[in-house]
Amino acid sequence: MKKEFAVIGLGRFGGSICRELIREGMHVLALDLDEDKVNEYRDIASHAVIADSTDENVLRELGLRNIDHVIVAIGDNIQASMLTTLMLEEMGIKKITVKAQNDYHEKILNKIGADHIVHPERDMGKRIAHNIISNNILDYIELSDDHSVVEVIAGSKLSGQSLIELDIRAQYGCNVVAIKRGKEINVSPMATEEIVEGDILIVIGADKDISRFEKNLI
Ligand code: ATP
Ligand code: ATP
Ligand code: CA
Repeated sequence: MKKEFAVIGLGRFGGSICRELIREGMHVLALDLDEDKVNEYRDIASHAVIADSTDENVLRELGLRNIDHVIVAIGDNIQASMLTTLMLEEMGIKKITVKAQNDYHEKILNKIGADHIVHPERDMGKRIAHNIISNNILDYIELSDDHSVVEVIAGSKLSGQSLIELDIRAQYGCNVVAIKRGKEINVSPMATEEIVEGDILIVIGADKDISRFEKNLI
C-alpha cells in the first residue's frame, strides 16, 4: 500500500517536499490557508485543500488521523506551527516532521512531541559552509537556492575512468561541464574523456546531487 503523506504549509520548503514526494510516487495531501498556494498545487498534489490547520475540526474532517506522516511546514507563524503540531500529536499521528524557525521554536516542538524537527535554513547553511571548506571543493558558485557550480579535485576513485563509465549524469543528475588539467581546460568534455587523479572537474547541478556525487566519488 502507498504511504500517505500530508504537507501543511506550501511555502518554498513545504512546496518542495510536496513536489518531491509526488515525484517519488507518494500520495500527498497538500494544505494551506492561502488560496493561491493551494491552486498552485492542485495539479501537483494528490489532493490540495484550503484550510486552517489550527482548526481541530478541519483536521478531523480531512481525515488526517489516517495519514502516516504529516509535515508541518508553516514558517513565520510559530504559534500556528506549534498548535498544529500539538493537535496532530493528540490525534495520534504516527510521524510528524516540523520545520523549526529558530532554536526556541525547536525546543517547544521537542516538548510537544514532534518526531522529527528540521531547521532547513540553519542546516543547509552548515552544510554549505562545510562544502566550502572541504578539501575537495575548490570553488562554489550558488546559481539558485538549490543549484550550484562547484570545482572538485578528482581523487583516485575516479582515476582512469571515463565520464560514460562513471555514468555521472544518470547516476547523480549533475553534469561535468569542464575538466581542468594543469594549465589546460577542456570545456564540454566528451563522454569518453578519461579522468586522471588530480584533474579539476567543474560540476553543475542541484546541491543535493552534487553532494551525493562528492560523497560517493570524490
Ligand atoms: P518558506 O521559507 O518555506 O518559503 P516561510 O518560512 O516563509 O516559508 P511562511 O510563508 O510563513 O513560511 O509559511 C509557509 C506556508 O504556510 C504559507 O503558504 C502559509 O500560507 C501557510 N500557513 C501558515 N499558517 C497556516 C495555517 N494555520 N494553516 C495552513 N497553512 C498555513
Ligand atoms: P533566511 O531564510 O536565511 O532566514 P531570507 O531568505 O528570509 O533569510 P532575508 O531576510 O531577506 O532573507 O535576508 C537575510 C539577511 O540578509 C537579513 O538579515 C537582511 O538584513 C540581509 N540583507 C538583505 N539584503 C541585503 C543587502 N542588500 N545588503 C546587506 N544585507 C542584506
Ligand atoms: Ca524563510
